[in-house]
Amino acid sequence: MFSFGVDIGGTNMRCVLVAVRRGRLSLRAAWRFPIPKTRAAFLEALSNSAFRARTIAGREKIRGIGIGVPGPLASDRTRVLVTPNAPQINRIALPAWIHRHLRMRAVMENDADLFTLAEARFGAARRFSRVLGVTVGTGLGAGLVEGGHMVRGAHGAAGEMGHMVLVANGRRCSCGGRGHLEEYVSHRAFVREGGADPKDLMRRARRGERRAKATFDSIGAFLGLGISSAVNFWDPDIVVVGGGIGNAGNLLLIPARNAMRREIISPVVRRAIRVKHAKFGRFGGAIGAALLLQPNYSR
Ligand SMILES: [Zn+2]
Repeated sequence: MFSFGVDIGGTNMRCVLVAVRRGRLSLRAAWRFPIPKTRAAFLEALSNSAFRARTIAGREKIRGIGIGVPGPLASDRTRVLVTPNAPQINRIALPAWIHRHLRMRAVMENDADLFTLAEARFGAARRFSRVLGVTVGTGLGAGLVEGGHMVRGAHGAAGEMGHMVLVANGRRCSCGGRGHLEEYVSHRAFVREGGADPKDLMRRARRGERRAKATFDSIGAFLGLGISSAVNFWDPDIVVVGGGIGNAGNLLLIPARNAMRREIISPVVRRAIRVKHAKFGRFGGAIGAALLLQPNYSR
């Protein structure tokens, strides 16, 4: 049986239709489109995607929809509490809406937690026990997986690494706080520092253009500081970096690793810690969302 995963990002919506057969992940289809700006258009796009998934699945049943959202959820997982990067879904009781209007089972989790679940179960962090996943895109998300299961925290908001304070009284964050990591490592940080869209800067840095390269060096170093703090605090086996900008790979990871060398306190951890590029590219969150509906992977 298939399950349908939807990752609602700040810029795009990504959808996958997957199944797990004999312990192996089978990806039947994947697609994406820009997230509609109004709530009504967003719900219509979601309905259309569910219809498309049903068409592709044909005779095979779909267990339900898993949804990833960019923000912390209420403890009962019925609604997302704050989504500064996707205001059109703020506080909607999405699983209930899907159940009522699309007649499908639906479960919802934080997108970065789902990205980490997918990478820990089938991706770059397979075979590792304690996994920290970091996604860099419109915002900066993070998730924790231990022994194959998401670590949610007492109120479902563990791993909100993007809102770790890195600069006392620093820049105002989209959440209202100050000096948070996300303000220094995200799409808007690239636009501010590099004067262009990160995709553009990625191309230019790969061609060897100095200003673009310097932007990746300074933002990558900032990412390394954030990861160091998280590693000092939680001591994972591996850190997996993904998301739209995280896919810049070594442009971002080399300066991040260099910064980590100075900031991690334990020499054992400094030697052992791995920082890897995500396996599933930008679809990790959607794959993790689909896994929520597959037996044995749902917690
Ligand atoms: Zn913040």
